[in-house]
Amino acid sequence: MADPMNVLLIARVSRDNTGEERSVDEQLDELHGWARREGWHVAHVIRELGSASRFSQRRSRNEFAEAVRWIESGRIDAVLMWEASRITRDLGVYAELRETCAKHNVKYGYDGTLYDFAERDDRFRTGIDALLAEDEVARTSERVRRAVAANVSAGRPNGKSTWGYRRLYDPETKALREIVPDPVSGPLVREAFRRFLGGETMHAIATDWNRRGIPPRRPKRSDRDPAPWGSYAIKEILRNPTYAALRTHNGVIAGAAIWPALIQQSAFDDVQKRLADPSRRRDPSAWGPGSLLTGTARCGEDGCRARMRMGYNNASYRAATGTARRQYRTYVCANGAHVAVKQVWADAVVVEHVLSRIEHPDFLAALHDIEDAGAERRRELMAEIDDHMTWLSRVRERAEAERNVDLLFEIESSVRPKINKAQVELKRLTSASPAVVALASESDVRSAWTTLDLPAQREIIRTLIDVTFHRARQKGARGVLSTLDRTEIRWRVDG
Ligand SMILES: [Zn+2]
Repeated sequence: MADPMNVLLIARVSRDNTGEERSVDEQLDELHGWARREGWHVAHVIRELGSASRFSQRRSRNEFAEAVRWIESGRIDAVLMWEASRITRDLGVYAELRETCAKHNVKYGYDGTLYDFAERDDRFRTGIDALLAEDEVARTSERVRRAVAANVSAGRPNGKSTWGYRRLYDPETKALREIVPDPVSGPLVREAFRRFLGGETMHAIATDWNRRGIPPRRPKRSDRDPAPWGSYAIKEILRNPTYAALRTHNGVIAGAAIWPALIQQSAFDDVQKRLADPSRRRDPSAWGPGSLLTGTARCGEDGCRARMRMGYNNASYRAATGTARRQYRTYVCANGAHVAVKQVWADAVVVEHVLSRIEHPDFLAALHDIEDAGAERRRELMAEIDDHMTWLSRVRERAEAERNVDLLFEIESSVRPKINKAQVELKRLTSASPAVVALASESDVRSAWTTLDLPAQREIIRTLIDVTFHRARQKGARGVLSTLDRTEIRWRVDG
């Protein structure tokens, strides 16, 4: 059996284009998880704390040089990072990294996909992503500058106390006397756990907290930042063992803590299990709000079938695709410049399709049959997946303890297909989701639709139909009618 691949992980401070922050720890956690799932060995980690922009190039240059040394060393087979913009937003530097990887036969992975620069398509894809990322640099730089200024003027304390708790000090000796739940933020921590366990998405919780004006855990980054809470902030809370009164050391739980628990350990463990559920991770909506069809609609170009992502039709995008249109939001093929459709029209076409079908009186009856027939089986499948996953993690522990990689690979290769098969069936059965049934039961389906939040709307669209966008027949053909013509919709539920 071949040795496992050796990988280099790179994480850095950045903000994605939904305005949500992935901390360096968050990125590394995801990258470690990716490597673990694939059975790759993490040879080295570069925690690149500097900005990737040309405005602070000197600072990031050292870490970049370190990355290049590792690629050249022959000791690693692949570089993994969160996304293209994590390694650099400067195309010159990017090209240097790409050349180095290609020269030393090192693969390059981001967004959960490993690219081989020897393949022409992979080179094209990563090049386009870097072009798209470049335009954000100026805005990011401005945000960072403002954030630093805000923190300095706010006299920010050393932020060692965990949100949800309060530290009581002895008034004379100034020594830490006790850590107690904070009367304001403590109940919010409990609320986040309770609602997530109740089936709400992290995005829904964040949206609600923003609506209620709940102050952020840390000082606001800028006045232009209207929404302090995002899915990732909620996720950080849900993953923090501190709230179950567990002490951690280097990210590993090290024992009971002196402070009181805000959440029972059994509930905390349940939440961790859900967060680690691979079927949830694969759900594109778990990655943030996005738009109605990002990550679900597909490219209709022959042999492509890649999912659509947001393109902003900015200067870099126009240069890459050779168009000169004004700036608006478009869905673009994640695999290249095959297909682009204007978002407002695409959304309108798809929503109209779905709502006019749901409104039909026969629809609800057909849906109920599916719901009844599928519910039991869905529970069985989820239990089956859970069993397989538990078994795998036990084997993984044993293989690690015995340094027996063959054992791990052998078990993985027999269990993985079973998990995948169960997930495929589960996904098919999930076509009649409770959200769809609830919407179809409304007397006024259209007005009910407008009150749903984006994750709920995405869930409904995703479970009911597969959307494919085709290239425009004539160059420059646009408008909602052209979009209608280019949109192929397949129903997954016979209603
Ligand atoms: Zn495509």
